Amino acid sequence: MTPTPLHAGNPGPFTGEGNWAYLIHGPQPVLIDAGVGHASHLDAIDAASPGGPARVLVTHAHSDHASGAPAIHARWPAAQFLKMPWPERDAKHAVPWQVIRPGDRLPTGEGDLEAIHTPGHSPDHLAFWHEASRAVFVGDLLVAGTTVFIPASDGGSLTEYLRSLHRLLELKPLRAWPAHGPVIDDPEALIRHYLDHRHQRELQVLAALESGPLTVERITEAIYQRLTGALTPMARESVLAHLRKLEDEGRARSDGSQWTTGP
Ligand SMILES: [Zn+2]
Repeated sequence: MTPTPLHAGNPGPFTGEGNWAYLIHGPQPVLIDAGVGHASHLDAIDAASPGGPARVLVTHAHSDHASGAPAIHARWPAAQFLKMPWPERDAKHAVPWQVIRPGDRLPTGEGDLEAIHTPGHSPDHLAFWHEASRAVFVGDLLVAGTTVFIPASDGGSLTEYLRSLHRLLELKPLRAWPAHGPVIDDPEALIRHYLDHRHQRELQVLAALESGPLTVERITEAIYQRLTGALTPMARESVLAHLRKLEDEGRARSDGSQWTTGP
């Protein structure tokens, strides 16, 4: 698998250096993720694939991956747009979406990709697995050098995310193409690092709960010492993600505002 990475041109506080889309060449070019519709991105697609993509496969509905779909549709009206449905979010990106189901095989110029449902970062998240080269397009499942944000009160689930990481591990991928950051040449090592990191964080949450009942805000303050500004709400979402996982497992519970250990 030798896709051409195309930068979406959208650096920012939530996207890091910005998003990567990937073009897989062939008689029917396939674009993985739609960027945000910047002119520089459309020109890069055009340069890599005159005539535009035949199909655009979108990993999930977050706007840095899907909001460029209408601009691509306007420039190349014959392009088809495919993703796993998340209806209320998909409606924000007005193109005629076609449905991908888990296990679907999606043809490209370099062989089929298999759609793997990998929820947790978002409910509609797909990874695209290229068995022939044991490579996988991972969207927002993996980002080298940092962890992945789980928006617990906006469609995220740490329980599902961890399950998705185990699902990826079972594939024994040799390479992962992420939507943010550099190509990952040892995905297994990164996934094991992630699993260890989440386990350590869970132990911190459980330790904080010992002095419960506590609000999410108080637990967050106990775990993260020097949090400032924009990072605080993200840290709270992370803590909430852990609490909901513990709740799923019967190890924590909430009265609506405060959390304690136990079923
Ligand atoms: Zn995302």
